[in-house]
Amino acid sequence: MPSASILIVDDDPNNFDVIDTLLDAEGYQLHYASTGEAAIAALDHLEPDLILLDVMMPGLNGFEVCHWLKSSPTWATLPIIMVTALSEKQDLARCFSAGANDFISKPIHRLELIARVRSLLILREQYQQLETFNAQLEVKVLKRTAQLQAIISHDALTQLPSRAALNQTLAELLQAENSAFAVIYLDCDQFKLINGSFGYALSNQLLRAIAARLQQLVPSDGLLACLGGNEFCILLRQTSGIERVKWLIQTVLDSFKTPFSVSGVNIFITACLGVVLGHSDYSSPEQLLQDAGIALYRAKQQGVGSYQFFDPQMHQTMVDRLALENDLKRALDRQEFVVYYQPIVHLKTLKIAGLEALVRWQHPTRGLVAPGEFIPLMETTGLVVPVGLLVLKLACQQLHRWQQQGWTDLTMSVNLSVRQFACPTLLDDIDQILAATGIDPARLKLEITESAIMDNAETAIVLVEALRSRQIQISIDDFGTGYSSLGYLHQFSVNDLKIDRSFTSQIQVLTSKYKVVDTIITLGKQLGLTVTAEGIETQPQLERLQQLDCEMGQGYLFSKPLPAADIEARFLSGRDAPSGWRPKQVPIALRLALSEPPF
Ligand code: C2E
Ligand code: MG
Ligand code: MG
Repeated sequence: MPSASILIVDDDPNNFDVIDTLLDAEGYQLHYASTGEAAIAALDHLEPDLILLDVMMPGLNGFEVCHWLKSSPTWATLPIIMVTALSEKQDLARCFSAGANDFISKPIHRLELIARVRSLLILREQYQQLETFNAQLEVKVLKRTAQLQAIISHDALTQLPSRAALNQTLAELLQAENSAFAVIYLDCDQFKLINGSFGYALSNQLLRAIAARLQQLVPSDGLLACLGGNEFCILLRQTSGIERVKWLIQTVLDSFKTPFSVSGVNIFITACLGVVLGHSDYSSPEQLLQDAGIALYRAKQQGVGSYQFFDPQMHQTMVDRLALENDLKRALDRQEFVVYYQPIVHLKTLKIAGLEALVRWQHPTRGLVAPGEFIPLMETTGLVVPVGLLVLKLACQQLHRWQQQGWTDLTMSVNLSVRQFACPTLLDDIDQILAATGIDPARLKLEITESAIMDNAETAIVLVEALRSRQIQISIDDFGTGYSSLGYLHQFSVNDLKIDRSFTSQIQVLTSKYKVVDTIITLGKQLGLTVTAEGIETQPQLERLQQLDCEMGQGYLFSKPLPAADIEARFLSGRDAPSGWRPKQVPIALRLALSEPPF
């Protein structure tokens, strides 16, 4: 390093001259300071690359100067060679403990001096290169961090602030002890359906359109974030009373009444909202979003386009839900699920045509639990798949027994949940059960709902075909309550439409629902399908359905769902068994049904 600058500190100027002479050929810039104080004062100006420091000096001695330099943030890395006449080991040790990088003994030997100076200057240079490299790296890291920060804090699709950005803002609000805010968690309803029907590209455009519309509604003190997928969150920083929050909720819900125009397609969609109000009890953004999520979950349970404010009671409900989930898992292992059967009757002859298998949970402490209480949860956890298969197996075994007793015309209807319908092993599982029980597949009727079909119409068509090719019958359950699948209906080779109880119950009342029953029966006839009315409870309902020429019926008027043994005793015990069951007087059957417990 020819142009390196070296500061020589020595109270004796002769020593400087000696060093000057010894290093003459090396081409360094040499500077001189006669005291430690003068050396320190000259540092900023000279910016030396190396110091040759005499130990014994008046004023600050070499050790003290060395200490000072090594504790200075600017000069700590400046290499120091102590030049000393001291030669005791302790003296040399003192040099190093003061922070010196090397030492050289007086009288100074030329080659030794040149070698030590060179090697320390090389080290110095390498150190400086490393520092420059580090500094450049740090600039790069800072730049990249800023880029990543921008990526993390923005949702790539909508360009709205992301969940991370929202968390940050919420954390700041909580830190500022501001609790007059509200968090509105928004989730679009049935977005999967949109994805399935229109594809991802259009769905993404729809999400951008939703983001743009919401952005216009958010007040200037608010923040709209996209939490990923089809979830958004509005933060209202100043609520100034619940009315403002309610007003915003209503405005948001109203805004969904206008369709979103995406690539020339008008898409109607609804959203549910879960709302949580700021409270001093909240200490983290996660808590707030968790509670808003719980409120949203409850809103979803209420139906599309609903909203719910978070209430601490909801926590308990979630805990209960988890407990129920655990109980249900154990129930399967402990064989607590049992199957009841409800007769399905030919409405013209009032003969028994078949039975519907309906699951019940024989709970060790709660008694018999109705499926309405656990099927929806099993649907979300996926437990409905093994339990549904168990019901199918038990129902097929039961049908086999009845077929062996001579009741060969009876059909067995078994409900298939959406999850089961989407299960890739469904066909194999059914084949196994058919093979194991040996029943005639033509006597098995699988009941699926409209939503099972509409969730994935293309797959459903193939699956229904595969089931039909095995002679299995297909029934559309709760027909009329889901999305209208009329457009698809002709593509499915189903056998039966089951009119939902909510329509049957309205049959006597002149409402639009009354017309629905009429329409479904006509539709069924036109498509060549059997129509079964569910939930027949009264004689006038039965008579009206008979007038409308509805082929099949099921309901408490005939019988509630019963254990297999009771079904046998009440309906399948006649000596003329295979000719079927015919109630002598329907009102008696009704009285019987109403005087019994619910199952
Ligand atoms: P679903 O398949 O529509 O079954 C008919 C429901 O209506 C049964 O309720 C039945 O007891 C009830 N019902 C029948 N007639 C009458 C009546 O006259 N009046 C009244 N008030 N109700 C009547 P249940 O057994 O509580 O089952 C409810 C739902 O749970 C079923 O509706 C079905 O969707 C589901 N479910 C039941 N068992 C199973 C199963 O094994 N697997 C699956 N996936 N779902 C099942
Ligand atoms: Mg059913
Ligand atoms: Mg039904």
